[in-house]
Amino acid sequence: MKELKNYLNQVYLKDTAISLLYWDRETYMPDGANDIRAKQISLLSGEVHAAMTSPVLKKLLQKNNQKKLSKTDQKLIELVKYDLKLNTALPPKLVSEMSELTSKASNIWAKARKENDWKTFAPYLKKIIKLKQKEADYYGGKNRYNNLIKLFDQEMTSSKIDVLFDQLKLALPHIIAKVNEQKKHTQTKSFKGTFSQEQQQKINQSLLPLCGLDPNHSRLDISSHPFSINMGIPDQRITTRYNSHHLESIFSTLHEIGHAMYEANLPVKYQGTPLAKALSMSLHESQSRFWENMIGLSREFINYITPVLKKNFKSQLANFNADSLYYTFNTVKPSLIRVDSDELHYNLHIIIRYELEKALINGDLSVSDLPAAWNKMYKHYLHITPKNYSDGVMQDSHWAGGSFGYFPTYTIGNIYSAHFYQMIKKDLANFHTLVRKAELQPIHNWFKQHVHQHGKMKTGGQLIGGDLNAAVYLNYLKDKFII
Ligand SMILES: [Zn+2]
Repeated sequence: MKELKNYLNQVYLKDTAISLLYWDRETYMPDGANDIRAKQISLLSGEVHAAMTSPVLKKLLQKNNQKKLSKTDQKLIELVKYDLKLNTALPPKLVSEMSELTSKASNIWAKARKENDWKTFAPYLKKIIKLKQKEADYYGGKNRYNNLIKLFDQEMTSSKIDVLFDQLKLALPHIIAKVNEQKKHTQTKSFKGTFSQEQQQKINQSLLPLCGLDPNHSRLDISSHPFSINMGIPDQRITTRYNSHHLESIFSTLHEIGHAMYEANLPVKYQGTPLAKALSMSLHESQSRFWENMIGLSREFINYITPVLKKNFKSQLANFNADSLYYTFNTVKPSLIRVDSDELHYNLHIIIRYELEKALINGDLSVSDLPAAWNKMYKHYLHITPKNYSDGVMQDSHWAGGSFGYFPTYTIGNIYSAHFYQMIKKDLANFHTLVRKAELQPIHNWFKQHVHQHGKMKTGGQLIGGDLNAAVYLNYLKDKFII
């Protein structure tokens, strides 16, 4: 086992070095370095892929197969075998074709979105879908879309997702209708004036240690799209972006803090092996959503942070108190853009994407019919229609990057987060008091103990002690938004 672990650790060191190249590209790298950076990333990624599919690795696995192994080592072997199966399922030609196509398509998409140019982007999307269908076929199994979902959440299938999403589809419109009727979350005050980036940055910076991220092992920087990445467990990097007319950077920072805390608390003794990896993208999103919504956007946390905000933005917030700030931050309003959406509408955006991408991959919808199908669903679920492609079918980068099967993990993450919310409130009787005082260490510790430290050693079902249940999430939403 020692030899295998050493081997994996060497690959891990290269892999985390690639992360550093990405992080730098998105934060500090001068634009002119784009080409050489792409080559550096591609070279190292190729080496990592080669190492993870190499006969040397296969031999090491075989060698350990015959031995009596501890439970953890057995799990480790199982995880490496699974990765090996995925990594070797695809012919190298398809892998390079896909990476070339999606990197080109991503560039085309970024430009086309700015220019509302669906015609230029559509042929690329068509090619990507064809290639994704081919890829899905290589993984085996009849349901192509299922094969792609598993890349992001091994425990999920489209029939499981259908059950969860059908419940949400049925209930969310009623909750939203009730919220509209009650007006508390819809007729909210808007901000006037500007909020300096420097002051916002200072507040965001203070959130990292407050939530439990060690300043000695984490950084906060700026990028055009917020993200979190790490160069190993002791090196967590998060980014945020600033809008001078709003304070949303606080919540997007909390979101990324949630991601980073998961990674920071993975079992360090297994670092370098798949045992110390996050369980799935759904679980990852449950962590970020928890810190963003259940902590950050809670009444208790807004009560805590209101004096801090008012001290920093005295004139801008002169007409606000904790109550009005709570409703402003939790305004419910249908929007065309997913990333600007409130907690209630957000899942409808995801359900639309899920249904469309499932139909695209399974061959039930063609790219030429996609914009009309998109608009029809927005009219049906959100009662709004995009006036252009950029605010409609072309708004997300996922499809251009070939990430089919990723979208549902956002809403599954939301459902998980509600399960954790229910569990933590039972275990920490003073949960709300802790949040109001911003004494967040016990909450951080709870997640470390019940989620993070298990890495890939437990299933999602084991972490929440049962099956995912959309009703748990719906109850959380009703409690929060219906008076
Ligand atoms: Zn996230």
